Amino acid sequence: MPLLVMKFGGTSVATLDRIRRAAKRVGVEVAKGYDVIVIVSAMAGETNKLVGLVNETSPLFDAREYDAIVSSGENVTAGLMALTLQEMDVPARSWQGWQVPIKTTNAHAAARIVEIPTDNISAKFAEGMQVAVVAGFQGIGPDGRVTTLGRGGSDTTAVAFAAAFGAERCDIYTDVDGVYTTDPRICEKARKLDKIAFEEMLELASLGAKVLQTRSVELAMRYNVKLRVLSSFEEMDDAAGTLVCDEDEIMELNVVSGVAYSRDEAKMTLISVADRPGIAAAIFGPLSEAGVNVDMIVQNISEEGRTDMTFSCPTDQVKRAEKAMADAKAAGAINFHDIVADTGVAKVSVVGIGMRSHAGVAAKMFKVLSDEGINIKVITTSEIKISVLIDRKYMELAVQALHDAFELEKAA
Ligand code: ASP
Ligand code: MG
Repeated sequence: MPLLVMKFGGTSVATLDRIRRAAKRVGVEVAKGYDVIVIVSAMAGETNKLVGLVNETSPLFDAREYDAIVSSGENVTAGLMALTLQEMDVPARSWQGWQVPIKTTNAHAAARIVEIPTDNISAKFAEGMQVAVVAGFQGIGPDGRVTTLGRGGSDTTAVAFAAAFGAERCDIYTDVDGVYTTDPRICEKARKLDKIAFEEMLELASLGAKVLQTRSVELAMRYNVKLRVLSSFEEMDDAAGTLVCDEDEIMELNVVSGVAYSRDEAKMTLISVADRPGIAAAIFGPLSEAGVNVDMIVQNISEEGRTDMTFSCPTDQVKRAEKAMADAKAAGAINFHDIVADTGVAKVSVVGIGMRSHAGVAAKMFKVLSDEGINIKVITTSEIKISVLIDRKYMELAVQALHDAFELEKAA
């Protein structure tokens, strides 16, 4: 039997009515002859509520108990979904992570899936069960205790099941109808893409397009799982949504597929550090130990053996970064004159796999920004992405201007 994985996010299972709607979609695929593994999230708002209860009870909580509590939202939805399907005369049952068992690492609250044995569920399919409903976001660690995969983790559960069971496709039902060229809330010309390559999606996901958990895209790319993102609020249609797939499956690659942004960035500069071997390690080692997520890095030209080192990080980590640098200076590990934080910047990026074979994208991006009078503070590039740091007040203008310049309203 061909097999599909269908994942329903929190908004798609927010009420009994919506669970019924979702179950009907599952029923349609079953009627087509598929065995279906349904992965569910907790009902909308449920996980936040549970996290709140944990924090109120114990601010420095034991992560194993956090997992025991926070994973429970998915258990409720899994049971309700199975019951709803049974009411529709579709043979279904639910599984909690440990019952499969979804084996994970021991990193409570941020565990990684290690293995998903298929025998247990496959045996039930062989006996005539048509839908296995599995609680997303959770598993069991080598310590025998319940783990969770980090917020948004049911996307990763879904892709991992699709890989383990060799599913024909993994459909992710959410509250948006696909992946857009940019955020429609700040650019009304944003368009839904029919297809996007894994690597592009990865750049867009980690740049703050919150449709899919980044890890789920990494996993899909590694195992070549065809992922489709679609809305559970629109009519069902085989061509709906956005297909995230291998670039070989895309006929004509877009030079630029999307413009992403990240609003809360800060630019930090260490002024006048000694330019000597080991200096970057002496700066970025302590920052990483302090849990600062450094993104862009620029080392400026050195003069008389001293240089300025600039890096970006999320605004809410500025204090932590300043402290780490002050501590390193006090310990004599580094020496600098001053540390300056600019917390009024944002990052804007253009992403596209066609950049690999087309020159001039960066030049065009810089020209567009300059025509708008926007000053670029830091630039970084990868093979398929160009990112700039600019003043936050120009962020929306930059996104709109770039979207226009690269003609993304015509993208598909
Ligand atoms: N319910 C979990 C969360 O809100 C996992 C998920 O929905 O993906 O993060
Ligand atoms: Mg999600």
